[in-house]
Amino acid sequence: MLLAGCRLSETDSTTVFAVFGTEVEIQLRDTGPRQSQAAYAEVGALLQRLHRELHPWEDGALMDLNRAIAAGRTHETTPDIVELIDASRALEAATDGAFNPAIGALVNLWGFHKSSYPITDPPPAPGLVDALLARAPSTRDLEVDGLVVRSANRAVRLDFSGIAKGLAVRRVCEAIGEHDVGAAMVNAGGDVMVCSVGDRPWRVAIRAPGGGVLETIEVHRPLAIFTSGNYYRYGEFDGERYAHILDPATGRPVDEIMQATVIDPDPLLADAGATALVVAGTDRWRHIADSLEVERSMVIDAGGSVSSLDTAPESAR
Ligand code: AMP
Ligand code: MG
Repeated sequence: MLLAGCRLSETDSTTVFAVFGTEVEIQLRDTGPRQSQAAYAEVGALLQRLHRELHPWEDGALMDLNRAIAAGRTHETTPDIVELIDASRALEAATDGAFNPAIGALVNLWGFHKSSYPITDPPPAPGLVDALLARAPSTRDLEVDGLVVRSANRAVRLDFSGIAKGLAVRRVCEAIGEHDVGAAMVNAGGDVMVCSVGDRPWRVAIRAPGGGVLETIEVHRPLAIFTSGNYYRYGEFDGERYAHILDPATGRPVDEIMQATVIDPDPLLADAGATALVVAGTDRWRHIADSLEVERSMVIDAGGSVSSLDTAPESAR
């Protein structure tokens, strides 16, 4: 089927799954056809499961949890959601609240719980945004005991879109690692995780705003490269564009940074970090990148100037 059509050589192959509103491409090298088939089958099932479990507005485990929070009930959720809550709490603290996946109600209010872009609805009334903002939803409001979650704040709505791909690529690499695979890479719509490297380095393109390639890097070790931008998912009304990334401090879309890329071995950190740097803006992004301790970040401001910050340990360069 798909695999046969895509095979590049006897031992190198690629396949694509449509999930998370994007295409997730898996590349395997130095792997026999039987092992590839088995790995792809497992990854396909895994991605479908995560897609359903973490979908922010279609029925699934995350919506069940959000409904329970709204009703003030305790609720037993899944290990993946608990892992995302734990990671998000640390990330919300380390980013001074720039990354905050508890603001799902605000994301919905701005019209971003939809699959087709751009969005042409008018922006919400300022009073509605301010009313939600006043209820200050935060991952700090959550109490987790094993798989049981409750929220002290009923305004919390979890939307993990800013970090879910990070978890997905981590899980994909773990699943592939169980098979007899030579080298593997995952590309989730331009967000990349190199799972393993054989005798050739992987070449990874960092996308440029508006298409094209900003930079191509050679990767020699397991590494995640995640990019967030305010240009490819946005709303447009009366000639004004508004980004799908919101500043949790104002409840409103950000506009100072056009694109941020984070490179780090930890894909959750890279995914959430890229989103946080877009929120942080031109004055704060270096500070946030430092406090997150990401290896490398690259930011393009609204005027198109590119800056980068290298904090990788000497040994990792
Ligand atoms: P990404 O493309 O990884 O930057 O994730 C963006 C998505 O994360 C948006 O579509 C929202 O669903 C959600 N989001 C928006 N603003 C924030 C924020 N400040 N913190 C966490 N998630 C956010
Ligand atoms: Mg992100």
